[in-house]
Amino acid sequence: MPQANRRVLVRSIDDISLEEVPVPQPGDNELLVRSRVVGVCGSDTHAALGHHPFIDLPYRPGHEVVGTVVAVGAGAGEFAPGTRVIVEPNLYCGRCAQCRSGRYNICQELKVFGCQTPGGMADFFTIPTGRVHRVPEGMSDLEAALVEPLATPVHAVAKAGDLTGRTVAVLGAGPIGLLALAAARHAGAAKIVVTDLLESKRERAVRLGADGAVRADAARPADEVRGILDGPADVVFDCVAREQSMAQAIDLVAKGGRIIVVGVGAPGPTPIRLDLVQDREIRIEGTLMYTADDYRSAVDLIASGAIATDAIVTATYPLEDAGKAFAASLDPEHGKVLITVAGP
Ligand SMILES: [Zn+2]
Ligand SMILES: [Zn+2]
Repeated sequence: MPQANRRVLVRSIDDISLEEVPVPQPGDNELLVRSRVVGVCGSDTHAALGHHPFIDLPYRPGHEVVGTVVAVGAGAGEFAPGTRVIVEPNLYCGRCAQCRSGRYNICQELKVFGCQTPGGMADFFTIPTGRVHRVPEGMSDLEAALVEPLATPVHAVAKAGDLTGRTVAVLGAGPIGLLALAAARHAGAAKIVVTDLLESKRERAVRLGADGAVRADAARPADEVRGILDGPADVVFDCVAREQSMAQAIDLVAKGGRIIVVGVGAPGPTPIRLDLVQDREIRIEGTLMYTADDYRSAVDLIASGAIATDAIVTATYPLEDAGKAFAASLDPEHGKVLITVAGP
């Protein structure tokens, strides 16, 4: 059995270190997993800055994890050692009304692996067997690392109703915005415009198939979006979730349209034009994480080759450089930043 286990400890964005902890033993129905590749999420940098409403510092991150099963606890035999797995990190109670209706992503006692519990930014971790999915043959570790972040927009797109032939605006061209673009396109959207403050991000969105990209701080961004879409957007995915992005979303969505709030909002109230929401019958809907169906759809979508993973991942760092990986992830010029542990 391996002895050393390095694990990332985040005290603040300026204090990210490795702690040495014992290799955990898998309990009943648990797997011991060796991490291969771990993504740095927007929520990770958010938390490191002390801004995440639901992650307290210090914390031990890593919810976007690809790994190899190393050992299997009693009753966890369906995954043999050597199997590559991805973690579905929502840890739910299974008893509350939401869980019983299948919406365990909004479990009343929801905890997220790597957010409220120690995660996979480590050499080894344990996880219940029910919280992993097999990585298909032929899918690279880097592709597999995008399943978790893709599952969020896949879930958001499912909430938006049938997108076939509809017009879509995606606010924010970070990794989640780019994956929302891909998921909306796959769901049949006719025209998609992406907005962002940064030119490099707008260019990346166009390379990834957006019909146009608009400066989020243009004088009249809604007019520009409507110009490209030949009218207002049927659906807006707000991957920024700030007062300004919601104002834009309300400004450019069609009457009777939907705004799906994908980004994590700032703690506290966000002023919005309720008069317009009422007058235009705008539906504003939140979306949190995903369930196993979304995960399977995300696996299929990546396996289909429809996602240009190389264009989304802009940097990888070894585990010992986790601090640099967080800094890169905060750099707005970067897309997805990954940490390699025992992977490629
Ligand atoms: Zn994430
Ligand atoms: Zn529950």
